[in-house]
Amino acid sequence: LLFDTNATPSKMALGFGPAHLPAFKPAAPDLQAALDQKHLFVVYQPKIHCATGRVSGLEALVRWQHPDHGLITPDRFICLAEEAGLIDSITLAVLHDALPWFAQLSTDYGGLGELTLSINISARSLGRPELIDAIVNLCARSGVSPSRLIFELTETAAMDEPVAALTLLTRLRVHGFMLSLDDFGTGYSSMLQLVRLPFSEIKIDRSFVASAATSQESRAVIRCITDLGRSLGMKTTAEGVEDAATHAYLQEIGCDLAQGYLFARPMTRQLLTNWMDQQLARFGH
Ligand code: C2E
Ligand code: MG
Ligand code: MG
Ligand code: MG
Repeated sequence: LLFDTNATPSKMALGFGPAHLPAFKPAAPDLQAALDQKHLFVVYQPKIHCATGRVSGLEALVRWQHPDHGLITPDRFICLAEEAGLIDSITLAVLHDALPWFAQLSTDYGGLGELTLSINISARSLGRPELIDAIVNLCARSGVSPSRLIFELTETAAMDEPVAALTLLTRLRVHGFMLSLDDFGTGYSSMLQLVRLPFSEIKIDRSFVASAATSQESRAVIRCITDLGRSLGMKTTAEGVEDAATHAYLQEIGCDLAQGYLFARPMTRQLLTNWMDQQLARFGH
C-alpha cells in the first residue's frame, strides 16, 4: 500500500495548520518525503443524479496530512508536484489506494447500481505512455472495469497542450476508460476543440454554480452548457452545489449529475461508508 490509511486525520480533518505557525510553503523534498512516508491520503466525494439524489459515483481527491503543518489541500501542492516531476507518482498512489477499495465497495453496495470512480489527472502526465500502462495494470489487477473509471482533465490543461491532450485522452479511451472535462467554462476552449476531444462528461465549473441562486447570467451559462452537453451526447455535471434552489434549477433544466456540499462533502472511507449506508436505506433494492 502506498498510503497509510490508518494515519488519516481526525483532529485536523477540517482544519488548517496550527495557527501559531507561519504559512508553510512546501518544496519538492517535502512532497517527496510525504510520498515516501505515506502522508498523502484520499478522500471521496459522491456524485449524485440530479433528478433523484441517488449516488452515481465517487471522485477521489488527494490530501496531505503534514505532521507539523496539518492538512494541506491539493491547491497548495498539485502545481508543485507537476513542476517537481512527482505528479505521476501521486496519480498512481491515488489509484493504488482507491481501486481495490472501490472494487470492494461496488460489491458491498451493488444494490445501488453500477458506481463510477473519478480520478483527476494532470496536464503534465500528457504524452507519457508508461503512465497508461501502469493505469491499465492497476485497473486489471483490482478487477474494476475500465468503463467504470472516469479520468478528469481540466479545461485549461486540455487547451494548454491540445495535441498532447488528444494523444493521452485517445489512448485512455482506446482502453475503455471514460473521460471528463473538468472546470468547464473557465478556460477558452473553442467549441470545435471541445468536440474533437473524446469526452463523455462535462463538469460545469463551481464559479457558475456557486452564483446560480443569485445570478441570472450564471444560470444562463449553466443552461447553455447543459444544452451543449445534451446535443453532443455528453453527461453534464454541476460541481459545487451548495443550496436547494440551485439543485431545483439543475433539475428544471435537465442537468444529469451534481456534486457539492448540499449532498456530501469529500469524506474519508469511514464517513463515506456511513453515507453509502444511508443511500442504501433510501434507494437500495
Ligand atoms: P476539482 O477536481 O474541480 O474538485 C472539486 C473541488 O471542489 C474539490 O476541492 C472539492 O473539495 C471542492 N468542492 C466540492 N463541492 C464543493 C462545494 O459545494 N463547495 C465548495 N466550496 N467546494 C466544493 P479540492 O479537493 O481542494 O481539490 C481542488 C483541485 O485539486 C481539484 O479540483 C483538482 O483539480 C485538484 N486535485 C485534487 N485531487 C487531485 C489528484 O489526485 N490529482 C490531480 N492531478 N489533481 C487533483
Ligand atoms: Mg475533478
Ligand atoms: Mg472541477
Ligand atoms: Mg477545480
